[in-house]
Amino acid sequence: MDFTIARRRMVETQIVARGVDDQRVIDAMLKVPRHLFVDEALWGHAYADGSLPIGEKQTISQPFMVAAMTSALHLKGDERVLEIGAGSGYQTAVLAQLARRIYSIERISSLASRARRILDKCRATNVNLKIGDGTIGWKEQAPFDAILVAAGAPEVPRDYLEQLEIGGTLVMPVGGRDSQELIRVVRTAEDDFDEQRLMSCRFVPLIGEQGWNSDCEEG
Ligand code: SAM
Repeated sequence: MDFTIARRRMVETQIVARGVDDQRVIDAMLKVPRHLFVDEALWGHAYADGSLPIGEKQTISQPFMVAAMTSALHLKGDERVLEIGAGSGYQTAVLAQLARRIYSIERISSLASRARRILDKCRATNVNLKIGDGTIGWKEQAPFDAILVAAGAPEVPRDYLEQLEIGGTLVMPVGGRDSQELIRVVRTAEDDFDEQRLMSCRFVPLIGEQGWNSDCEEG
């Protein structure tokens, strides 16, 4: 399988064809080798139009969802970005192409270690990745110009709003355990937030102090 050709086809048919037109996001997705972020047995499916299992009941996000969430942040290159739910590290690698520094949190240590290894292989040197409960954000590194949350919560955790820079943008799925709405929130002033609904989506639950409790991982 020629992964460069598969990647180009993925970008043309799943991303550009569905309306993502941010050239920087398109270039990043043409560049990041998605197959390296899944088990070798799944390499043949790595550029297909869907999410894939990465172990621990978690998934690597659908390529279109990665593109849509990333382009909703309107990154220009100099931002400090907080990512919650590194998972495989694929979305992290895309962000690392587009912003100055990425602060990423993953609650499952085996996934975080594997993501770190692949990110190092891809020379993503501008990523700080830590293991922990991302529902409380990363206070020591705040404020952030952008926050991307790759797991669904019942509502936006208040710490994210506090840790977002004025003028900054947050993108995350909000709603029920099984289906959510992808929303974008822009902090327009100290106490003012502008919220917009982008599309329906289905993410695994955001588990922690300001998210779901861990019982919802079962069944
Ligand atoms: N975007 C990732 C990728 O491309 O591989 C996929 C993320 S996966 C859909 C969601 C991730 O969020 C899972 O790895 C899960 O362990 C993680 N997660 C859930 N709750 C979390 C929390 N409170 N803090 C950090 N990570 C969390």
